[in-house]
Amino acid sequence: MRHLKSVFVIFILTLAAFQTVAAQDAAETPVAKHGQLSVVGPHIRNEAGDITSLAGPSFFWSNTGWGQERFYTKGAVETFAKDWNAGIIRIAMGAQGNGSYLEDEAGNIDRVVTVMNAAIKNGLYVIIDWHSHHAEQDIEEAKLFFTAIAQAYGHTPNVIYEIYNEPLAETDWSTVVKPYAQELIETIRAVDPDNLIIVGTQSWAQDVDKAADDPITGETNILYALHFYAASHKEDLRKKAEYAIGKGLPLIISEWGSVTYSGDGKFDEASTRDWMAFAKTHGLSHLNWAVSDKNETASMFRPSATSDGNWTTEDLTPSGRLVREIIRDW
Ligand code: MG
Repeated sequence: MRHLKSVFVIFILTLAAFQTVAAQDAAETPVAKHGQLSVVGPHIRNEAGDITSLAGPSFFWSNTGWGQERFYTKGAVETFAKDWNAGIIRIAMGAQGNGSYLEDEAGNIDRVVTVMNAAIKNGLYVIIDWHSHHAEQDIEEAKLFFTAIAQAYGHTPNVIYEIYNEPLAETDWSTVVKPYAQELIETIRAVDPDNLIIVGTQSWAQDVDKAADDPITGETNILYALHFYAASHKEDLRKKAEYAIGKGLPLIISEWGSVTYSGDGKFDEASTRDWMAFAKTHGLSHLNWAVSDKNETASMFRPSATSDGNWTTEDLTPSGRLVREIIRDW
């Protein structure tokens, strides 16, 4: 069963990746400009060796039936590339809950492939994120999935692997999260020796200090996730991040919101701007949560937004308008 599943996923992904190879746009895209990324000290660097900080949107949970899977389209990716000037996008592939990859493999893979291929065509970096709060419970599924992704896309400069979205507060870094990460890194590196891998950190990707005190060693091109929600998290979390950066830990803000940590509540523009200044100072890349029209303040879109891009200002929420401005100006 597991073997058959792996063969299926690899077949679909390989076919999909093959179809996109000749289709890249010739214009000066982010990937054409920066090429293969690497991690040197606490920074992402481009092929020329320059510190590289990218900004873009994170898609919402890809789960079938949750409503926001409708935005996993070529048109949405093209609009983020050409109108929002995004350098990077993030696929939040649901790996828990109803309709996740673990329940509806074909539906979720179809969305992943659509967005991956559109990202490559538009010259964007693309994070493929195992969106779960319990990834260690499904480690064999995760290993099969990332093996298939690495086989299909590891030869491109575009793909970035995010192996565990947000471990919970009770999921210990040193004894659970780190060993999971080491196993996933070994699995991916058996296929793809070089593309960036993002490691989730304890407490919804906030305890970067624990990772800094007990980092993964002997591996290259590893980043650690720092997530913040601007209305909830402020100077205390930035202090933690500065401690980690001070110890040389490379961070990426692979998910952030302009609201409270629930994804709803107060839209906090002032705190968002404080965080963006912090990201600029430290050369951090960041991805906003979320490409969604769900009735909560973190959503970029109103229900009027089409699934295929070409949105107007009227389609954007207050957060969506600010985030578009931030990404365009990054
Ligand atoms: Mg590679």
